[in-house]
Amino acid sequence: MSENNHYKVIIIGSGPAGLTAAIYTGRANLKPLVLEGNQPGGQLTITTEVDNFPGFEHGINGPELMDVMRKQAQRFEAETKFELATKVDFSKRPFIVESDGGSYTADSVIIATGATARWLDIESEKKLMGKGISACATCDGFFYRDKEIIVVGGGDSAMEEATFLTKFAKKVTLIHRRNEFRASKIMIQRAEANPKIEFRLNSTINEVLGEQFVTGVKLKDTKTGEISEMAVDGVFMAIGHVPNTQIFMGMMEMDETGYLKTIPGTTKTNLPGVFACGDVQDKVYRQAITAAGSGCMAALDAEKFLEAHE
Ligand code: NAP
Repeated sequence: MSENNHYKVIIIGSGPAGLTAAIYTGRANLKPLVLEGNQPGGQLTITTEVDNFPGFEHGINGPELMDVMRKQAQRFEAETKFELATKVDFSKRPFIVESDGGSYTADSVIIATGATARWLDIESEKKLMGKGISACATCDGFFYRDKEIIVVGGGDSAMEEATFLTKFAKKVTLIHRRNEFRASKIMIQRAEANPKIEFRLNSTINEVLGEQFVTGVKLKDTKTGEISEMAVDGVFMAIGHVPNTQIFMGMMEMDETGYLKTIPGTTKTNLPGVFACGDVQDKVYRQAITAAGSGCMAALDAEKFLEAHE
């Protein structure tokens, strides 16, 4: 525990970005505090198998990977708390970070609060989460070899994920709630040209069916109200992500969708001493390994900043 609740570095968030930043700042003897948030371990804790994180020949499950990362950070004296940052003041240094468990000050802050996939928010979806329902084709597509699956959404992600999933699946049905797509023309054309992809427009999912694993969906025609059932092995949501930046609103530079802006090639935000890494500043790659990589960058950037300001 740091004296007077003051830390050289406070890391907000505990996904691969935050915990990698903790490993590096810990190893640099900066004794960081990690506020883990309301989903300790981040988005990977709702995935089952992580097959593509280098170093795990046979894969590792998401919660276990995050547990190991946390322990690795703690080995270098990173202090981790199951607390949610609720308010920050970056107007002067030391910065103030308040959580649901205390109030802290810091010479530098690394923001790694991630993004949250948008979900349909229906009961059956919660029940079958990780059991045939996913929001990451890159992570989970491999498990659907020769299966029939659904992708939900009408944006670029939906087109991209549907196209990508045809590498594995026997058939992909893209379900969209309207009859017009938000996606760019080229992405739509690519999906339309793919013989494995079928489109079902003006449709929403009313219920995901299955007990232990997804077996189908109940669809509603948004024009006629007609309900129908469709047998599928998996459902991929591609209805967008929301960056977890609510507590930083109006305080720092964000793009029009709320992602934090960083100076290209660095993790520096527009506020000196405040760094951002992982999905909170990346809506393109969104992978555990890219988040971890940017967490490492944030730690090195923070270390350099602290050296220059000591
Ligand atoms: P998006 O553009 O916001 O599209 C989300 C889609 O999900 C929309 O079609 C929306 O329908 C639908 N949707 C939202 N909530 C829904 C709900 N509750 N039920 C059913 N459908 C729902 O998100 P995105 O596709 O993830 O793309 C995000 C950004 O990343 C975009 O700027 C995109 O261009 C970019 N991106 C680019 C690439 C690429 O260029 N390779 C790939 C992926 C993403 P409505 O259309 O009816 O609102």
